[in-house]
Amino acid sequence: MAYDSIIIGSGLSGLTCALLLARSGRRVLVLEQHSQPAPVVRGFRRAGIYFDSGFHYVGGLGDGGAFQPLFKHLGLADRLTLTEYNPDGFDRLKINSSGEISSLPIGFAQIKEELAQRFPALKVEIEGYLNAIEQKWCCYPYLDLNVDISDFGMESVHGESLKQRLDVFSAAPELQSLLSMHSLLFGVDPGEASATLNAQVAGSYYHSVHGVDGGGKALIDAYLALLDGVGADIRCQAKVESLLEESGQVSGVRLACGEEISATEVIATQNPTLLPQIVPEGILRPAYLKRLKNLRQTMSAYVLFGKTSKPLDALERCSLFIQQQAGVFTSGAKLPLEQRSCYLTSAGEDASGQNRGIIGIVPAGYGEVVEYSEGKNSRSSGYAEKKDLVAIKIKEMLVQGCPELADLEILDLATPLTLRDYSLAPQGAIYGAGHFIGQYNPHPVTRLPGLFLSGQAIAAPGLLGTVVAAYITCGSILGHELLRGEIKTCR
Ligand SMILES: Cc1cc2nc3c(=O)[nH]c(=O)nc-3n(C[C@H](O)[C@H](O)[C@H](O)COP(=O)(O)OP(=O)(O)OC[C@H]3O[C@@H](n4cnc5c(N)ncnc54)[C@H](O)[C@@H]3O)c2cc1C
Repeated sequence: MAYDSIIIGSGLSGLTCALLLARSGRRVLVLEQHSQPAPVVRGFRRAGIYFDSGFHYVGGLGDGGAFQPLFKHLGLADRLTLTEYNPDGFDRLKINSSGEISSLPIGFAQIKEELAQRFPALKVEIEGYLNAIEQKWCCYPYLDLNVDISDFGMESVHGESLKQRLDVFSAAPELQSLLSMHSLLFGVDPGEASATLNAQVAGSYYHSVHGVDGGGKALIDAYLALLDGVGADIRCQAKVESLLEESGQVSGVRLACGEEISATEVIATQNPTLLPQIVPEGILRPAYLKRLKNLRQTMSAYVLFGKTSKPLDALERCSLFIQQQAGVFTSGAKLPLEQRSCYLTSAGEDASGQNRGIIGIVPAGYGEVVEYSEGKNSRSSGYAEKKDLVAIKIKEMLVQGCPELADLEILDLATPLTLRDYSLAPQGAIYGAGHFIGQYNPHPVTRLPGLFLSGQAIAAPGLLGTVVAAYITCGSILGHELLRGEIKTCR
């Protein structure tokens, strides 16, 4: 069967592109290498508890939030129930060396007030810093419908680093900790990430913070129902091995099984580092392909899934960042495990409605487990023992940061190899190709007519970043004015 649009990858960006294109009347097919749609985000059940895998919370969906109109336009707002995080402390930070615990409330005004109270000598600087983020976080194509699409992203490439920006607070290392901890949500160290990228990601959470009832699975189910309603097809275990080209234009794809499927446009949402592997020789310029191959990736991670004997108040509608020493965050992926920062959140409810699942995420490097990789989903001996050792150490780190976890039962551990196999991201990069200062991530429009790119490498990671990326990509196909006009009716 011939399609108008083929989308490679059924992650958040692929599903969003599919929805926008199918709604415009195109015949759309989504191809996913994994056995189920959205392998990164859909989560899983263990010991009777639903665990989220690649989605915990989202920013910018509160009243007046710049993400709200897109959520409504996609139809997600009508299908999902959002739960607000704790307004007095949506994210908390524990600094192990001092034992100090701080909370960030929801809302720019509330954060300014809280921080000014704690650091009165820096009140003016804090206001200036947060005012800039408040203005900047939504100055992004499709969040702000007037932003010029042609030069989006440049500030993230050329701007001041987050670390430099936080120099002004060097007299208050705890403040630097609080204002840099969200770098774990984009996977690039503050020394290499722009203050603008941090504003885009952290700023959305400063504005408003919600979880989705039913977690990532409910989010994906909502997408699938919407796609079903517009007649889009999805095929899993369908790995794209090659793009097809005819007369200088995309003409379809060939799957790993040898099947060829025709389409007049292909939207590639996989990690862009993988694109050169599926482009037949001579179609795209070698310099462009080299640039894609060399894109730097975000850190990887260990993700520990566990169960407590009773619900944990400390993680009720909030997450906990744990840092060993106060100061600007580093992922610390190169440090010994016990010196790294980590992130702790609760999972969904068990059958009795109690929240007893725990997810702990600790930055990691691919090199720590690469010796156990024999290929996709295949591990050499010693891997299970390595996982057990790492899981025990991570549990100790989590208990140090949150003593209420002393009776945590370890259920499983995902490693950089797990992350690699679910998304195919090189080195198990947690957020794919990173947004580093000095790195030009690819534009959605390529020189091959009919080939477009989307995904977290284009705009930013996360639900918000990937949805924005999908709008930028689909706007390049359908016309930005058309999409922006539709969104205006959802404000
Ligand atoms: C542990 C973790 C926690 C997170 N927490 C949050 C959170 O709380 N809030 C938030 O907003 N975001 C969170 N994120 C980030 C968010 O999950 C990602 O930014 C987002 O899922 C990326 O979507 P994507 O579509 O760009 O990429 P992906 O989901 O990686 O989609 C690309 C898809 O392409 C498929 N693919 C690759 N190559 C091929 C091929 N050749 N043929 C067919 N298919 C192919 C892959 O299997 C994959 O499914 C988290 C991520 C992780 C890993």
